[in-house]
Amino acid sequence: QEPILSVNDLHTQFHTKSGVVKAVDGVSFDIKPGETLGIVGESGSGKSITAMSIMRLIKDPGKIAKGDIMFKGESLLSKSNREMRAIRGDRISMVFQDPMTSLNPVFTVEKQMVETIRAHRNVSKKEAINRAVELLELVGIPSPRSRLKSYPHEFSGGMRQRVMIALALSCDPEVLIADEPTTALDVTIQAQILELLQRLQKELGMAIIMITHDLGVVAEVCERVMVMYAGKPVEFAYVHELFDHPKHPYTWGLIGSIPKIVKEKVRLEPIQGLPPDLRALPKGCSFAPRCKHAMDQCLEVDPALREESEDHHVRCLLYEEKEKAVTS
Ligand code: SF4
Ligand code: MG
Repeated sequence: QEPILSVNDLHTQFHTKSGVVKAVDGVSFDIKPGETLGIVGESGSGKSITAMSIMRLIKDPGKIAKGDIMFKGESLLSKSNREMRAIRGDRISMVFQDPMTSLNPVFTVEKQMVETIRAHRNVSKKEAINRAVELLELVGIPSPRSRLKSYPHEFSGGMRQRVMIALALSCDPEVLIADEPTTALDVTIQAQILELLQRLQKELGMAIIMITHDLGVVAEVCERVMVMYAGKPVEFAYVHELFDHPKHPYTWGLIGSIPKIVKEKVRLEPIQGLPPDLRALPKGCSFAPRCKHAMDQCLEVDPALREESEDHHVRCLLYEEKEKAVTS
């Protein structure tokens, strides 16, 4: 099956007074219809900027400096702003951590949903309302027709997240980008929202890009996962492979910080230290200052992302060394 979306060598940079911030520095991946791809990393790792780049929502002083984003074989970077507006919210949609960023607090849910639907579909107001009712029902809002009259703040956090998902799904997107969709919610509600997304994906067949700092969420819903650090992918694998054989020291740390899973199996320690300043990255491997396995050359050489085993890519000199040892 052909990928629906491919990101090729994406570089997104911000030109600030104190230097160029390479927020996304060479990201490539593709995703097939119906697939869920996780992008995981700490804040500042470039995962949200990757999403904003796909949506073409990068604002000055940021710009996509290099690379391409292909949606169904067409470059999104060569689309006009008008063409992009037609794609956003219709064919590629996004949900955020905080529903209040995509729901307008001063309008009823009905008004917002009807507007979104009618911006992309040539339907009457009545048809749009019926569609909105259907959507609220789909995401599990009780008494959807009367709830349409409510304002966003009249919903609980979890219900508001459902409303936002309904809004994102109004036009049957082929790709849904979910940026920390459950981070602000308590654990029970979080599980319900993840379950909802999985059910909707089965029913609607869309591809989902799940952006999260939480490998637990990835384990729950994703097929493949890209781990990002300081703007770069550092490990890319199928989820079961990543959990069974994590290769990058940063991933070891992430897995070590998951409360339940894995714990007895491997004793991995959570990562110490802070993410680096993207304006002043260390010379060699960006992770070196926090890496317990750093070697002398890690301070000199920035490793490349390479395939270590089938469909498992890692960016770390530990593996290049291993190979050198074997071949020499
Ligand atoms: Fe650690 Fe070196 Fe691998 Fe970077 S390249 S993750 S510093 S071992
Ligand atoms: Mg973010």
